Amino acid sequence: MNRTTSSRLIRQAEKSIPGGVNSPVRAFKGVGGDPVFFTRGEGPYLYDVDDNRYVDYIQSWGPMILGHNHRPTVDAVVQQAQRALGFGAPTEGEITLAEKIIDMVPSIEKVRLVNSGTEATMSAIRLARGFTGRDLILKFTGCYHGHSDSLLVKAGSGVLTLGIPNSPGVPDAIAARTLNAPYNDLEAVRTIFSEYPEQIACIIIEPVAGNMGCIPPVPGFLEGLRQLTKDQGTVLIFDEVMTGFRSKFGGAQELLGVEADITCLGKVIGGGFPVGAYGARNEIMEQVAPLGGMYQAGTLSGNPIAMAGGISTLKELKKQNPYEKFDAVGDRLSSMLLGAGKKYNIDVTVNRFGSMMNPFFTNVHVTNFEQAQTSNTNRFAIFFWEMIKNGVFLPPSQFEAWFLSSAISEKDMLVIEKAIDKSFQKIQEEQ
Ligand code: PMP
Repeated sequence: MNRTTSSRLIRQAEKSIPGGVNSPVRAFKGVGGDPVFFTRGEGPYLYDVDDNRYVDYIQSWGPMILGHNHRPTVDAVVQQAQRALGFGAPTEGEITLAEKIIDMVPSIEKVRLVNSGTEATMSAIRLARGFTGRDLILKFTGCYHGHSDSLLVKAGSGVLTLGIPNSPGVPDAIAARTLNAPYNDLEAVRTIFSEYPEQIACIIIEPVAGNMGCIPPVPGFLEGLRQLTKDQGTVLIFDEVMTGFRSKFGGAQELLGVEADITCLGKVIGGGFPVGAYGARNEIMEQVAPLGGMYQAGTLSGNPIAMAGGISTLKELKKQNPYEKFDAVGDRLSSMLLGAGKKYNIDVTVNRFGSMMNPFFTNVHVTNFEQAQTSNTNRFAIFFWEMIKNGVFLPPSQFEAWFLSSAISEKDMLVIEKAIDKSFQKIQEEQ
């Protein structure tokens, strides 16, 4: 497979952009080698600048849940672009998207639309602090909630891949207000609450972690957090930027039967455009300006083109209801990975929740950050490159979840089955 144009472009990009990329994981530091530059996507496929085709399991890190170049969405976006690119004034599309979100996520009565997941979580934290009058927040080691100062403490995703858990530039005074607990450890959370009684504004959590690889909550964990936060007057924030509309229409909270106080959304709700959102019951959202004093704003928030992309995506999701298909495809992929592990005698564990999944190259059952770290990342790198060579594009890090799209067909499953077999064989050969 020839990827020489990609290699030439990354050398050029490195001269004008830090590391040649505008988001660190794209630089392939977790697997070595040069990143791939893309030109177009069609359904389940990506095409790179050297015209190689790949089955895509990144889906633009989640948003392209319907596959690439989804016609009705592209048409809706083009039609809006021909009317106007933006106003900085209210538009009907904002109401439509807000109403769709409220309709699908039962714990949300009002929602504010922003431009990214980072903005959503950053604003949700400010809202929780304003609502409770408390400063401390609690997050979980290995969870990633975007790159605002308060949340870049022991975070997942690129910070985990690059091994920089606490970013320089975050003032100690701010980091000190972020408490940390291991994911899936309710006792540790209880201990922290007993050390800081009625002082913690919020718990923020990915209800299914996706930024240290995919780690679902163990039974009783989210239920325990719900009860504890209720007892302590603490706001429970579910960061469903990844899981929203990916696990079920109402997100992970619908599937798991635990409701959040504030929900953060992103990715799927923009259909590929920069959209995020935070929403809650009226009592909480009434604190947000101009109704209340919690200030949060955005020049491009509610941009009409982004709204058109999001509305079309949510409409089509309702029509397709792809969640059973995701389970079927995910189960088959899991079996393929476990089967290849057995065949080539390579330790592998597969975690999956709906259309999010990934293998860990370990014999440990992975339920938290520490266990995720037992994965053999050298094996992952060999696996990743062999999958690319065989036409399958995966997140370039052990610590990112793979995303399925509804566009995947039987033909694509055969491509991935063959690629998985070859990749495990390669790991065996190189060990
Ligand atoms: N929260 C979660 C759970 C995420 O996965 C991400 C991004 N992957 C974010 C927040 C930040 O979103 P964005 O990159 O759009 O700022």
